[in-house]
Amino acid sequence: MSIKYQLKRSIKRKTLAIKIKENQVLVYAPNYLALNVIEQWLTSKQDWIEKHLANQQKSPLAKSVLELECVTFMGKTYSLVYESDSVQSKVTLDGDVLRINTSKRVKHIEEKQLSLLMQFAAQQLTSYCEEKAADMANKLKVSFQMVSVKHIKSRWGSCDTKGRLQFNLQLASAPLWVINYVIAHEVAHLQVMDHSHRFWQVVKMLYPEHKKAESWLKENGFKLDIFKVSNFRKKVVEGDGFEPSKAMPSDL
Ligand SMILES: [Zn+2]
Repeated sequence: MSIKYQLKRSIKRKTLAIKIKENQVLVYAPNYLALNVIEQWLTSKQDWIEKHLANQQKSPLAKSVLELECVTFMGKTYSLVYESDSVQSKVTLDGDVLRINTSKRVKHIEEKQLSLLMQFAAQQLTSYCEEKAADMANKLKVSFQMVSVKHIKSRWGSCDTKGRLQFNLQLASAPLWVINYVIAHEVAHLQVMDHSHRFWQVVKMLYPEHKKAESWLKENGFKLDIFKVSNFRKKVVEGDGFEPSKAMPSDL
């Protein structure tokens, strides 16, 4: 077995699973399963594992976002400056410099910095999606209730029967043309709820190159988890547990 991995057995588990996290391969297995069976199965997944390991290593975003000098949200690159002298924690935009200023009273500075940065990304993404979705909905002569942004575990976006559109926060660092596709996809659901042929005709009308964007998400989507929230204590993350980074399913 040429793959280095960490085995995590459990009584409750019924199936095998692999997770790649911070360049480590974690294998989850039922307690009773023989090691040679596990290794045989792992060997069959070797290509997949190597591909994902290589991708994690070449991704400059594998570091914590707080270590980066600049960050790109909605296609705009910002230099990051951290300060810790304000009365109230806040983010200010000064040209293309994003000043993340934590209050002197904050105990866990890194957590606060991360949550401020996430709030900023969420605001940018929300207003972008609101504007684009309104344009696209106009074209279809449909309307939506609201746009919200949050971390959605397994989807890039969603649209419910009440016309509420939701987008994954991780999209904030995707290229704009990819974000536009996800918006088009969800807006198209305002007209056709399922993924029928008729639905894809509507998507195509709003966004002709949808296939290119879909394959970009399939190949690169996992790199978008720049916040690596799982490295930080959950309490800053406002409820809704952020899962360890993993490849997002292509499903929207
Ligand atoms: Zn869909």
